[in-house]
Amino acid sequence: MSTGIGDPDRFGHTLGEPVGQDVTDVINQPGNRIDEGIFMKVIVDWDLCDGNGVCAIEAPTVFEIDDDDELHVLTDEIGDAERAQVDSAVRVCPKRALRLEP
Ligand code: SF4
Repeated sequence: MSTGIGDPDRFGHTLGEPVGQDVTDVINQPGNRIDEGIFMKVIVDWDLCDGNGVCAIEAPTVFEIDDDDELHVLTDEIGDAERAQVDSAVRVCPKRALRLEP
């Protein structure tokens, strides 16, 4: 564990030596590999959302606005295929009503 200046890890890093913990075993556990699909959940703050539909333009496979201007989340588990669209929707939501959580 790094403790700052004078830490052996820091000196090792400076010299280009391998430092820190080997996390290969952790990364290779089922469910921990990105290529096996790590899902994020999209969370809507319904107190903030006003149904303007900007998110549905950015991520139409995830968000839909009905005829009454009500937002529907079509899937709340966001995989790699939807991630870029939903990231964009989170960024552009004018009410800041969206977030992604692990
Ligand atoms: S962009 Fe934000 S405020 Fe607009 S419908 Fe989507 S979540 Fe609601």
